[in-house]
Amino acid sequence: MKRLFNFSAGPSMLPLEVLETAAGEMTDYKGSGMSVMEMSHRSKEFEEIITEAEHLLRELMNIPDNYKVLFLQGGGSTQFSMIPLNLFRNSKKADFIITGSWTKKAASEAKRYGTVNVLASSESDVFSYIPKVGKEHYSPDADYFYITTNNTIYGTRYVDLPDTGNVPLIGDMSSNILSQVYDVSKFGLIFAGAQKNIGPSGVTIVIIRDDLIGHAADMTPTMLDYKIHAEKGSLYNTPPTYNIYIAKLTFEWVKKQGGVSGLEKINKEKAALLYDYIDNSKLFKNPVAAEDRSLMNVTFVTGSDELDKKFLAEAEKQGMVNLNGHRTVGGMRASIYNAMPKEGVEKLVEFMKKFEMDNR
Ligand SMILES: *Cc1c(COP(=O)(O)O)cnc(C)c1O
Repeated sequence: MKRLFNFSAGPSMLPLEVLETAAGEMTDYKGSGMSVMEMSHRSKEFEEIITEAEHLLRELMNIPDNYKVLFLQGGGSTQFSMIPLNLFRNSKKADFIITGSWTKKAASEAKRYGTVNVLASSESDVFSYIPKVGKEHYSPDADYFYITTNNTIYGTRYVDLPDTGNVPLIGDMSSNILSQVYDVSKFGLIFAGAQKNIGPSGVTIVIIRDDLIGHAADMTPTMLDYKIHAEKGSLYNTPPTYNIYIAKLTFEWVKKQGGVSGLEKINKEKAALLYDYIDNSKLFKNPVAAEDRSLMNVTFVTGSDELDKKFLAEAEKQGMVNLNGHRTVGGMRASIYNAMPKEGVEKLVEFMKKFEMDNR
């Protein structure tokens, strides 16, 4: 069997154990005589899978009882529309801190339905930092306050969350859910597309506080109304059954790693290996503010497009793939999500050291 160290930003590596369990159960799920893919979403077996997936996620993230967990479709990007359609209801105004392309996209969708108040943006500095905005600038009457907790493309994250008081904080956690401990009660709504830290693309996790459900604008398509999905336990229509099954397997794996706090510890060690080396390197640089560095997406450059290309080609020969930066920023990016073993990061750092020696 050949397995590469896949540093892709998403879809990304899954734990080998998860893939092997799924392979073993592929044609006959626990004596049911069929694959989970072939099963009715109303069957007893699938009912158990989705119930257990929710139960495990609640346990792992310590989700309070007054929050619903939804398994939806349409990727993280559909949430950019669902959030304003469901949450704009009083002032029809939302505060945004723009920290990357994903926040920009969320803001431009929200603008179709209400007022977007941009408190700050780091765009003029290529989103290389998280703007710090004093509380006195927040809109006390906003219907919500929107952030991206981890910026997948630029390699930054919020280390401290904005304290938005009674205004619901919305967090796009697509690229760092389950990677560090969060206090869910600080948020009104959290969402994450699965393909970075949970499973295959096609299922999106939404964690939403009860009081934010049931206020969708009249024109909201049924499929985009949180209330419909909450009332039907994510079974209003056929959910992405196989993806939910893989998510359940990943949640079991996370639990075995010591839960989210266990993984947070390993993730910090993995990120430190890279950042410590880069900080001491004369060739590689990390282009973002040190205090805002992501634990999941580590960006670096040599300063020469030619050397970057050479680095990527040689890394690939060593079995380390998808280290290229996002097409809009270039350079390199090592996405080191939960499923990337520490050995993968150690191997990358060893390779970077050798590359630096050879290219001085
Ligand atoms: C990948 C990503 C998205 C987009 O997710 P899709 O599932 O492709 O729609 C949104 N936000 C963040 C932070 C991401 O990393």
